[in-house]
Amino acid sequence: MAVIEISNLRKSFGKLEVLKQITFDVHKNDVVAVIGPSGSGKSTMLRSLVHLEEVDGGTIRVLGSRLVEDGVYAKPQDIKKITMKMGMVFQHYNLFPHLTVRENLELAPKMVKKEPADALRQRSSELLTKIGLADRADAYPANLSGGQKQRVAIARALMMNPEIMLFDEPTSALDPELTGEVLKVMKDLAEENMTMIVVTHEMGFAKEAANRVIFMDNGEIIEMGSPAEVFENPRNERTKAFLNRSY
Ligand code: ADP
Ligand code: MG
Repeated sequence: MAVIEISNLRKSFGKLEVLKQITFDVHKNDVVAVIGPSGSGKSTMLRSLVHLEEVDGGTIRVLGSRLVEDGVYAKPQDIKKITMKMGMVFQHYNLFPHLTVRENLELAPKMVKKEPADALRQRSSELLTKIGLADRADAYPANLSGGQKQRVAIARALMMNPEIMLFDEPTSALDPELTGEVLKVMKDLAEENMTMIVVTHEMGFAKEAANRVIFMDNGEIIEMGSPAEVFENPRNERTKAFLNRSY
């Protein structure tokens, strides 16, 4: 079953065409790694899925509901319902600095979903244990390492019980020795069959954790296939050149 259907997405910033007829489906339990050079439109594509960018044309359906069809957006309340099914993690963690780790986790479900405090407390405790930060529940973001902050950002997104998780270069801002702990949390999620789209420069992660790889360049999908197909047997010259540069 396709949980995300994307067809012929187009988006320009002024004269710059950033997305040119992007088409692909994501199926339930897929882990899709999106790779490609800087400026190729990866973030814009991901941000379009959660309506942080509006496309100029094309169709996005999420879990069967239309976010945008042929460039026409759904009603605002429907857009909200649809985008809430997806959790997003950015390169920069965007934690609230004046809130503790636990408060960061509980804020959105408390405000948006009006969930009772004891249910939130239980879920935040479970998620903090899952990311290995049960002992830092009362710490403030300033007192965490970059890797810990990014793990909190992942847990915060999971608090909303998303059906799909989107990651935009979640380890790119981290010191190399801290990327492993974040990738580990993402691998665990993948093993629990979370449906994920991950924009990443971590080719090791793409090879090991993804079941599909998309290579984007210059606003287009140049190549799409299994990790073995894309990494071992790239068909396109641009993919080959990119992979040779990345290793
Ligand atoms: P990637 O994530 O692959 O590095 P992006 O989607 O961030 O690529 O950007 C694609 C292109 O769109 C780049 O040339 C970038 O400079 C441009 N771009 C992105 N966001 C904006 C914006 N808000 N206004 C103008 N240009 C933008
Ligand atoms: Mg980007």
